[in-house]
Amino acid sequence: MTDVRIKTPNLDEIFEKWKQRAARQDKKKMEKQFGTKGAIFSLDAVSAAEYVKDTQKEAAIYFAIKKTVGEVSKGTEEKKVLAPRVPRETFYSFKGNAKVNKDNWKGNELVPTYETLKTISCKNCNGKGYIEEKCRTCKGTGKIQEKVTILSGEDQKKEDKPFSYPCGVCYGTGTSKEQCRDCGGHKNMYKYQILPVPFKTIVTGIPVLHSSAQTKYEKEIERDLHQMIEEVEGIKFSEFKDLEAKAEPSLGYWNKNIKKTISAAGSDHKTYSKDKEAQITTQIYLFPMIQMFCETKKGAKFEIYSLGSANKFMIYSNF
Ligand SMILES: [Zn+2]
Ligand SMILES: [Zn+2]
Repeated sequence: MTDVRIKTPNLDEIFEKWKQRAARQDKKKMEKQFGTKGAIFSLDAVSAAEYVKDTQKEAAIYFAIKKTVGEVSKGTEEKKVLAPRVPRETFYSFKGNAKVNKDNWKGNELVPTYETLKTISCKNCNGKGYIEEKCRTCKGTGKIQEKVTILSGEDQKKEDKPFSYPCGVCYGTGTSKEQCRDCGGHKNMYKYQILPVPFKTIVTGIPVLHSSAQTKYEKEIERDLHQMIEEVEGIKFSEFKDLEAKAEPSLGYWNKNIKKTISAAGSDHKTYSKDKEAQITTQIYLFPMIQMFCETKKGAKFEIYSLGSANKFMIYSNF
């Protein structure tokens, strides 16, 4: 593989791009900072040669990752109900690892989950459904004791004889079964959980930028690159070790900070490669970065950064 030397944009091009944009955004400010009192202000007079005091060649490394973030559980609630309530409830089932796309989900995010439905034996009646008590009618004897009156003979001599017969309430058993008030005679109680719908974990695209220029715009550049990566030209690598080997010849310049930045980006890239919840979604881009230290006619200091090749680059400035 031959070295792909990337052409860095020249200072005039960068300055020109910045100048046009700055004038579009705030012409008055440009005039105030670069104009001469009494003279008609012309942008043409604002040149890199005059106002760029120093430049530094740096580099930036960019790649994007997708990270899955687990659904945050919103807590669970447990319900304990009588048997007849169970068929009146609507249950949801999420078996296995199938996750729900939140955008397609209609209804509550917390739902009774069928898999959690459990039978619990009633403690009050020990799972019998009734409480055994002495029959109140026969006082537990199973018999009703009465007397039968017999009148004997012509003189009708009265005589009482005991007469007992099985109790009709307890069928002669002496005990009666009272429906258990806790379980309503159904022997069991039922419990189930109201659980959060297992939504698909959220996948977010995260841009990762490392730059050797100590810029305050790293977050801004990172975000912009994420959206317009095709608008900025860099050298793409599939493997980080290739980038490490080719960075210097590709850039055509080198410094300690670039070396440090590549090493930091490399360990970052390695961490993401090993992270089961992360997925690197782009190639690794190496961008030339130019940092220009400028001063206006009024003496205000500002910086301009360019990122990308001479073909396609973007600029940032704190002007
Ligand atoms: Zn019971
Ligand atoms: Zn009885």
